[in-house]
Amino acid sequence: MVVKVERVLLAEPRGFCAGVEMAIKALAWMVRVFEPPVYCYHEIVHNRLVVEAFAKQGVVFVDDVDDVPAGAPLMLSAHGSAPEVESAAAERDRTVVNAVCPLVTKVHHEMKVRAKKGFTVVYVGHAGHEEAIGTMAVAPAAVRLVESEADVDALDDPGTPVALLAQTTLPHDEWVGIAERARERFPELWMPGRSDLCYATTNRQAALRAIGGRCDAVVVIGSANSSNTVSLTHVAAATGCARVMRVNAADELPDDLSGVVGVTAGASAPEWLVDEVVARLAPTDGVEIVRTVEEEEYFPPPPELRELLRAVAAAAAVAIGTAPSGPLPSAEDRSIAAARMLAPQPA
Ligand code: SF4
Repeated sequence: MVVKVERVLLAEPRGFCAGVEMAIKALAWMVRVFEPPVYCYHEIVHNRLVVEAFAKQGVVFVDDVDDVPAGAPLMLSAHGSAPEVESAAAERDRTVVNAVCPLVTKVHHEMKVRAKKGFTVVYVGHAGHEEAIGTMAVAPAAVRLVESEADVDALDDPGTPVALLAQTTLPHDEWVGIAERARERFPELWMPGRSDLCYATTNRQAALRAIGGRCDAVVVIGSANSSNTVSLTHVAAATGCARVMRVNAADELPDDLSGVVGVTAGASAPEWLVDEVVARLAPTDGVEIVRTVEEEEYFPPPPELRELLRAVAAAAAVAIGTAPSGPLPSAEDRSIAAARMLAPQPA
């Protein structure tokens, strides 16, 4: 049943970021290369419907790499894994592809380097989030987790130089307040030249800020365990919009929505969910797309997967006695949308 609101303002950019595109396509390639089951450590991205789509294709999600049999293909998720998980994964002849987003890897690298130089690293993140767990595990003795300005005030004086790093998906306003307080507390504070908040997080929040004040309600599409999705709900509320809701899919929309409704989607929510939400809202006065920036970021498949795809293409060519015709699968990767690769494969 449709809701029939007056108008929809569609924030752009929204939905899949380059890191999520890369991770989903990488797992989709794995499903095509290996006989099922293919294993994945943690949810490949934080979206229930994406995880369910892969489960239907024979992917088994585990929270402990010891649950993955010897010799099995295993993917590590986009959020980044602790160094000891990466080492454990590589044991017992498993084929491991690490789909960590390069922007998370950058923070791991900063953590490693600062800790090695004797810094105490104040890390702004959300306790229990997989990205925060993986990043803090890079230098557990050096890191102090903070989630608020009050946490910064409560830190002991470490007696070492102090660096400030962050989870990539924090709300921008939250980060600015905490960074400011940390600078007051530690005047010699080291910070990366550019903050660790990723371009996708920043862009999706900016696009939402551009529409929030014009909306009677804002709908954020994405899962409850997706940090950047939850951040979007906070950003929408901060614009003064009276009604903000997060939904997994169109069937969770309330029937009483009316007036102008803003729609956006977290970085791990596929565009087909947006299409379904807009269809259910059925705006009588149409859809207005509000674009604040054009995104062109692209992350190629992880190097170990590119190697694997090259080997598979070469083996296939030998088997049929010809040189490979057309581009290698990894070369095609850029032109294929992750959502398309998520679709079930013909038997
Ligand atoms: S939200 Fe940012 S850090 Fe996270 S996967 Fe996407 S691009 Fe990478």
